[in-house]
Amino acid sequence: MGERTSGAFETASAGGGGSAYELAPVGLCTLDRHRRVLVCNRCFRELITAPTDLAGRTLAEWLPAADTLLDRLPVEPGGTIEADLTIEQGNRRLLRLSATRLDDGLSLALADVTAATEALDALRQAAERSSFALESAGQWVWDYDIVENRVWRSQQWKRALGYAPEELADQDEPWRIVHPSDRKIVQAAMAPILAGTRRDFEATYRLRHKDGGWRFILSRGKVIAHTPDGRPARMLATSVDITPQKEVERELEATIRQRRQLEHDLITANRRLRLLAEIDSLTELPNRRKFDKCLEREFRRTRRERPSLVLSMLDVDYFKSFNDLYGHQAGDDCLRAVAEALQQVGRPTRDIVTRYGGEEFAAILVDIDLDEAIAVARRMAEAVERLAIPHSGSPFGRVTICIGLTLFRFGQQRRLRTPDQLVQAADRALYAAKDAGRDRIAVATRLEEGRVETRIVGRDTEAAPAG
Ligand code: GH3
Ligand code: MG
Ligand code: MG
Repeated sequence: MGERTSGAFETASAGGGGSAYELAPVGLCTLDRHRRVLVCNRCFRELITAPTDLAGRTLAEWLPAADTLLDRLPVEPGGTIEADLTIEQGNRRLLRLSATRLDDGLSLALADVTAATEALDALRQAAERSSFALESAGQWVWDYDIVENRVWRSQQWKRALGYAPEELADQDEPWRIVHPSDRKIVQAAMAPILAGTRRDFEATYRLRHKDGGWRFILSRGKVIAHTPDGRPARMLATSVDITPQKEVERELEATIRQRRQLEHDLITANRRLRLLAEIDSLTELPNRRKFDKCLEREFRRTRRERPSLVLSMLDVDYFKSFNDLYGHQAGDDCLRAVAEALQQVGRPTRDIVTRYGGEEFAAILVDIDLDEAIAVARRMAEAVERLAIPHSGSPFGRVTICIGLTLFRFGQQRRLRTPDQLVQAADRALYAAKDAGRDRIAVATRLEEGRVETRIVGRDTEAAPAG
């Protein structure tokens, strides 16, 4: 044993101060099975601050911490152990010891990792500080290994989405928790990154919270490393939860939609109200108000562009007595029936049949000559008679009407200046029809100032030409 010890030591010494072993930048040492130094190099001695001659000395004398550590070294040859030891001689240093079991001893390697560890610590602290700053600002940090298709996520990131630190392991499919409908958004944002045409990533998409709900997040990333052949290798990214903003946005959109609907409803309601304001509720014909408007409009149009306009005033005969005999309700029914009959005779697009008031109706007929208008009037009177509403108070035994009509042709009746004058003329004709015994049609033929001539037209004969 003694022989072997000195022999090995001699070998090392024989290497001289300039051998590779002696000058290696790591501490190297071989121990026998009793952990006595067989041979060691200069770096080893310097690291443990030992005298030049260590041969035959036990490691426990110089490096008690290492000695304790070696107790844990596996007994079979080839077994290794690695650990960091803190040396407090002078400056505090951190040594990394690697020990390997040999057949009849141990081989040790020792390196000073103080600086490297400090640098690493400083780096780690810097990284922690910056991720702390980011995460305090609500930015979650994640790191995408593009080559391996793996994502590392910060704990804060996982916590924010309700996951425990060990969940969402790096090996998992990175986009597993992206909302299925939003995956194409992420893919579209990643495509130019993978193609190497862009370095910046930005996308808004939903991620599944542990509770099963979805969170809108905005992610921004940057490619920070490339493979040797220039392909993107790593992307560092941060995400921020924008769910609250999205909710506000959604509420705002809903409010705007609601408002639009309200406006639309209001416009529709107003339109209906306007329509209602111009509709007579009993007969559902346009009312007097609408009649005035239409007559005014058609009167102006006739002066401008149309050849002629005919106004007919229609009045139910003996209606007071009808009410007296059959009651007001029956009177209402009668007016409704008469209104419908009159409207059906009118030409759908051109004639405007209105309820003028009480049992009186008015029809405005445009683009029509007097003969045609008289024919329309006859059809109206017949339509009412065909209703065959019994009226025992009338000499005709049924409900009849009188019609007074007048034609307005611009240029011929220069004295006729207002729609009112037209109404007066038609009214005169109506009275003439009443005077002639009712169930009659009369035409106001000449409209002179203050004077209107009327003419009764037979119910069955052809109308005489207008005067
Ligand atoms: P004439 O043959 O001369 O036209 O006589 P008339 O009885 O028809 O005319 P008058 O003007 O004397 O009477 C009209 C009646 O119409 C009086 C009124 O009670 C009735 N009347 C007016 N509006 C309505 C209504 O909306 N419903 C009912 N049932 N009757 C009404
Ligand atoms: Mg009447
Ligand atoms: Mg009347």
